[in-house]
Amino acid sequence: MRTTHAKPDLAGLLPEQGRTALTKHFASRGQPAYRAEQVVSWLYDRLAFSFDEMSNLPKAERDALRECFDLTALETARLSRSSDGTSKHLWKLADGELIESVLIPTSTRLTLCISSQAGCAMACTFCATGWMGYQRQLSAGEIIAQYRGARAWAADNGLGEITNVVFMGMGEPLMNRKAVFAALHSLNHGYGLGARRITVSTVGVVPGILEMARMPEQYRLAVSLHAPNHELRQELIPIEKKYPLPELVEALRAFDAAGGKRITFEYVMIDGVTDSIALADELARLTREFHAFVNLIPFNPIPETEWRPSTPERLRAFAARLEARGISAFVRAPRGRDIAAACGQLKAEATHGRGPVQITSRAREKAAS
Ligand code: SF4
Repeated sequence: MRTTHAKPDLAGLLPEQGRTALTKHFASRGQPAYRAEQVVSWLYDRLAFSFDEMSNLPKAERDALRECFDLTALETARLSRSSDGTSKHLWKLADGELIESVLIPTSTRLTLCISSQAGCAMACTFCATGWMGYQRQLSAGEIIAQYRGARAWAADNGLGEITNVVFMGMGEPLMNRKAVFAALHSLNHGYGLGARRITVSTVGVVPGILEMARMPEQYRLAVSLHAPNHELRQELIPIEKKYPLPELVEALRAFDAAGGKRITFEYVMIDGVTDSIALADELARLTREFHAFVNLIPFNPIPETEWRPSTPERLRAFAARLEARGISAFVRAPRGRDIAAACGQLKAEATHGRGPVQITSRAREKAAS
């Protein structure tokens, strides 16, 4: 396992950068031009994890590649498989940091949820990763290596091809834009995954949303809203103080106006905190203009809070109220609970909690109204 950044990492370079670097490399060694295409094919089509696998290259050329380039691959620290088919990899990075990715099969899709940072600095109060704090950014190569590792594992275990990738694992992807945007480009232009099958999930990092609005590709955006007003939202998501809702809504309008780009909203259902009918009405008013889906996510309990998921009755009533207000709401079935598949939970098992979180009484009163 190597991730030194002194050498260019073929897992992390944009496909066109990789081609150019390989073409130059082989030209400098007096090798025919087709060698670069051979390596590109090993990387993107045959998913080679090491230069030694590239068996149609002479050994001297494989050795030279190893001298000049890296090819980041991740070590599996732990693999957990849920009774519902969800599989979670805990990956160990070269410096010992741990990150997670989750494979979620349905009858028509195989979705991979990947991490963009080791830990997360956003400190959302309902999230296991938020309680662990921030360690570091992932490189583009480390992000793509999750996809490559999970894709190979899925093929070996009869799950078929990954059809969708969502950046909903550990970290806030739009706080690591350089690496995440490079990874988006590689997934789309290198590995051939359609842009509409790739979703970036954000808690509302406005500059990143505006950058995505300007991209020609129609990547999807999932906005972790979780509260429809500033007061409650800043209790759950501290970055609300930096990018308050009106600014976020403006950025979403720009994203929407770019055309063909799809927004979904994520909304965590916490009993007595986010699930009142009054909040459903506010949420409907806020999201109506985007004609977007609202995914209602039953809160996945973590040791750091005493919060509980909404009861099925409150969930149904909330969803029905949204539907009555013309909003398409979808209750996301929790997946992989027996393997702690919610963001950050597998790693969180080894960390200390900060004690139960207290929501302020003002926000609680408003939430309960
Ligand atoms: S919900 Fe996302 S942004 Fe918030 S702390 Fe967790 S990983 Fe970070």
